[in-house]
Amino acid sequence: MTATVIDGKAFAAKVCGQVADHVARLTADHGITPGLAVVLVGEDPASQVYVRSKGKMTVEVGMASFEHRLDVQTTEADLLALIDQLNNDPTVHGILVQLPLPDHLDSDLVINSIDPAKDVDGFHISNVGLLGTGQKSMVPCTPLGCLMMLRDYHGSLSGLNAVVVGRSNIVGKPMAQLLLGDSCTVTIAHSRTKDLPGVVRQADIVVAAVGRPQMVQGDWIKPGATVIDVGINRIEKPEGGTRLVGDVDYDSCAAVAGAITPVPGGVGPMTIACLLANTVTACCRANGLDEPEGLTATAS
Ligand code: NAP
Repeated sequence: MTATVIDGKAFAAKVCGQVADHVARLTADHGITPGLAVVLVGEDPASQVYVRSKGKMTVEVGMASFEHRLDVQTTEADLLALIDQLNNDPTVHGILVQLPLPDHLDSDLVINSIDPAKDVDGFHISNVGLLGTGQKSMVPCTPLGCLMMLRDYHGSLSGLNAVVVGRSNIVGKPMAQLLLGDSCTVTIAHSRTKDLPGVVRQADIVVAAVGRPQMVQGDWIKPGATVIDVGINRIEKPEGGTRLVGDVDYDSCAAVAGAITPVPGGVGPMTIACLLANTVTACCRANGLDEPEGLTATAS
């Protein structure tokens, strides 16, 4: 079997188009422009690239982008004061604090100081609790993107066996909650899981979010299963230089799976698209308007 390639880049472009349409309607019908504020502390090169591309895409879909670049020495008090200001700014509907923060700043304290209604990353403890109890919340962007692609490919996920490899707060745990919300039977595997290949072999859906290059092998995959590769790892090429690979050994898994996301061009582009989708959703909720259809985790 050769797997269907789930094209995350094309899917993300479609989601961004839907977001842009919704933004245009909000502006034309209600005079509202959704606004996203991104806060970057320090000069981590990867974070700078992410923040730049988030700002660019925010503007491309017609939203307002507010970038706050703070010195690496910024005190917690100053950062909390900025977040308080953004919480109270009616032109800002979404706030994202780029992680990781420098060591002297308490990430949990900072994230939990964001107004949960503006927490477009979905990391605030209130949103974690709302998602866990099946209530309306802001949903973390990477798992939301994975869910959208799975729904698009499968239609209903009800009754499917899903194995999520990785239990991080930003990917693995919310991914498992979303799959449970769509009535999958969910297993969360991690570094202490016994017989990981045997566990993964039970899955109709495998989501790999581990941070280990090409760990999941083709002979771990049930024939016809859907494989979602969240990993982003840079490895050395034999001929010199580096390339990006996922947590899944693409060639061996694609030979057995029914469908698979590539790296790059799979989950990555969907993450930013879902950040924009979450910002529109937050804007609609803040203004008491209907939420954009198909851009949230609300079961369809
Ligand atoms: P993380 O916080 O480091 O969590 C990794 C998880 O993998 C942990 O739960 C860990 O288990 C588990 N794990 C580690 N080694 C394992 C092994 N040998 N067998 C089974 N499980 C193992 O990572 P993360 O933030 O979730 O990110 C995971 C990957 O996704 C990374 O490659 C990251 O770059 C990528 N990512 C991509 C996007 C995107 O937009 N595409 C977004 C976020 C992250 P323990 O809990 O037992 O230690």
